[in-house]
Amino acid sequence: MGLTHMQIKELLDESACHECEGVGPDHVCVRIAAIAEMPSRFGDFHIFAFYNNKDFKEHVAIVRGDVTDAEDVPVRVHSECLTGDVIGSLRCDCRDQLESALRMIGKMDKGVLLYMRQEGRGIGLINKIRAYGLQEHGYDTVEANLALGFRDDERDYSVAAHMLESLHIKSIKLITNNPKKIYDLTKYGIKVSGRIPHVMPANKHNRFYLETKALKSGHLIDLHGKQHLPEQADPPVIEGMDEEQIEIIRSFYQGYSQNEILKMKTRRD
Ligand SMILES: [Zn+2]
Ligand SMILES: [Zn+2]
Repeated sequence: MGLTHMQIKELLDESACHECEGVGPDHVCVRIAAIAEMPSRFGDFHIFAFYNNKDFKEHVAIVRGDVTDAEDVPVRVHSECLTGDVIGSLRCDCRDQLESALRMIGKMDKGVLLYMRQEGRGIGLINKIRAYGLQEHGYDTVEANLALGFRDDERDYSVAAHMLESLHIKSIKLITNNPKKIYDLTKYGIKVSGRIPHVMPANKHNRFYLETKALKSGHLIDLHGKQHLPEQADPPVIEGMDEEQIEIIRSFYQGYSQNEILKMKTRRD
């Protein structure tokens, strides 16, 4: 059962006059600004559009079923990637990650996908395209990395955490292959009762892509053999990968920090 009209009205009324001290050092506060039904090819959802006082971006929650006061709600946090999500770019696997998460949640009684409008890890589309271009024109990945920059994870998760609070979710099961995400959300007061592995269906492209990634152990390689940066902070795990491949990918991502990525100077093509 989805949300009733009464529940939607209550959530909107409550948000209209919501004020709090905010989440994290930046005092991030979030309000639900609009709610509507959203039937989709992945199932029936409600879409929640949020206002926030930090980046003023229009983050959304795609909500399946009635999650109000619910425990163990499956939640996926996805960062916007225009080139991957919309255009189907093969420079990254963002669209595969997004679609498989929506497909998974669409089959469940309840669940949430937070779609965070932080293109290019929060530095925007122009810088992301700039970094792609630099890689094409023979710049090494350090320069491209510097242009791409890195997302401030703390800020992201504080907005996401407050969004989950605004939805009155009591505890979540995070759909992720990345234990660090659990830690980050917990830091902002979200009760994470468990983790659901995010396994994507294999296809012609990503099977090769991930085999390559796994074989190069520790280097992120795109389809053309050039190193690139992950846009989603999650190690992708594909149906059909063996334990060793999964472990190589997971352990690499788990440990990375800005400095470590900056040290990854090796170009492989
Ligand atoms: Zn607030
Ligand atoms: Zn992407």
